[in-house]
Amino acid sequence: MSVHWNWARTFYCRPRLYVEPKSIDSLRTLLNEINETKSKVRVIGCGHSPSSLSMSNEVLISMKYFNKILEIDEINHEIHCESGVLIRALNDILPQHNLSLTVQGSVNELTIGGVISTATHGSGIKYGSISSYVRAITLMKLNGDIKEYYLDDDEDLFRCLTCSLGTFGIIISVRLQVSPLFYLELNQKPLEFHTFLNTLSIHYSSSDHFRYMWYPHTNSGIAYHLNRVNPRLINNKKKSIFSRIISWFSNSLIGHHLLELLFYFSLYFPSLVRRINRMYAKLEGKTLHKIDRCDKLFNFDCLFRQYASEWAIPLDQAVSCLTELEQSMEQYKNVHFPIEIRFSKDEDLSYLSPAYGRKTCWINTVAYRPYGKIHYQHRPFFQAFEHICHKYNGRPHWAKEHPLKNEDFAQLYPKWNLFKEKREEFDPNNFLINDCLKNVFLN
Ligand SMILES: Cc1cc2nc3c(=O)[nH]c(=O)nc-3n(C[C@H](O)[C@H](O)[C@H](O)COP(=O)(O)OP(=O)(O)OC[C@H]3O[C@@H](n4cnc5c(N)ncnc54)[C@H](O)[C@@H]3O)c2cc1C
Repeated sequence: MSVHWNWARTFYCRPRLYVEPKSIDSLRTLLNEINETKSKVRVIGCGHSPSSLSMSNEVLISMKYFNKILEIDEINHEIHCESGVLIRALNDILPQHNLSLTVQGSVNELTIGGVISTATHGSGIKYGSISSYVRAITLMKLNGDIKEYYLDDDEDLFRCLTCSLGTFGIIISVRLQVSPLFYLELNQKPLEFHTFLNTLSIHYSSSDHFRYMWYPHTNSGIAYHLNRVNPRLINNKKKSIFSRIISWFSNSLIGHHLLELLFYFSLYFPSLVRRINRMYAKLEGKTLHKIDRCDKLFNFDCLFRQYASEWAIPLDQAVSCLTELEQSMEQYKNVHFPIEIRFSKDEDLSYLSPAYGRKTCWINTVAYRPYGKIHYQHRPFFQAFEHICHKYNGRPHWAKEHPLKNEDFAQLYPKWNLFKEKREEFDPNNFLINDCLKNVFLN
């Protein structure tokens, strides 16, 4: 029995049966067996989600071989790809056709099936999560039937399928609206946290893809203004050996290895965290201007393994929520940087997108696990964070850890019961519900 870990190595499972099917026929045969043995099953892409969402101790199906881009329509800006296609592959191939993904998260080692099933988002008040760009989904139901679903066929069902946490069946392929190829111009500058709070709307509305990184326990942060520009020859001069050594020194040695060591020490001396945050706010709080292809500036290095909690707060409550968060933080010594603050538009295409029906401010906190060390020192702050975000009507990111249950979601999502009814039609025996989702849908 092999062991499967998520990316952060915070959750694992030992599936009785792990399979990587290569064809529709083998998927169907597998589903027959599952129906006969009445087994629980999870379908995964990379299995990277930072929670137990993608875990199963019974049957685990990886879609890694469903990795073909089936069609690229350059005129209508639409692609059709199998669900196991990596975001990284799309970032490599779409520019050759003068296209780009419209939005994406911080990393590209994720599958299209995984990102649309969890409403993965980037930042930009005019843009939705990746789920909001889905135009059709081909799904294999648990009885083996395959159908391509469009919005016009059944609006309610389609709005469930575009963010469905793997609870309706196996997503075989997805048609996605994409954008003409674009580059981003980055203007990065230090911005005090209190100034940021007082001018929040100016920032998120003055650039296409604004995000903010706060160094908790300090009044420091960095504002990243990213604006779309047309593709152009980039005038990034080739770096000299000297500047490459300097950038290795600052990014790899100081930004990664020294930081990991310092956070490791802080597990034994938690009050060190404030000093580390202060020191890195100074080191990293630089002004920077850069133009590059969009994915190269959307994606960034998430450093090392970490616990993560992220909530979608209604935009009009973001300042109050962040203010209360800052006040509460005085009780804790060890909140790691950065707290990442991002924005997205109100969505209507996915009933379960955390940004459904409201403009959203996403707040993400991490607790690093230096050298893979398992620790629970972050729990008191994470609990306070969850409590405050929930108080401000926050909805947790589906792929990250949260304490909410069915009755909480019923309050938070206007179409919750409709989603549950549709889900039960597709999976009346709850074969697709694992322990993580039991709390969400059944208890
Ligand atoms: C380092 C890191 C950085 C991240 N950054 C961001 C970010 O910037 N923004 C953000 O919003 N999120 C972010 N995330 C969360 C991430 O986008 C989601 O966890 C995403 O689902 C992971 O993709 P995956 O292929 O690993 O999905 P998995 O973990 O394999 O699956 C996720 C869900 O999708 C379902 N699923 C996957 N494929 C299928 C299929 N073919 N059919 C049916 N169901 C399927 C699974 O059942 C599961 O419910 C990050 C995660 C990591 C680890």
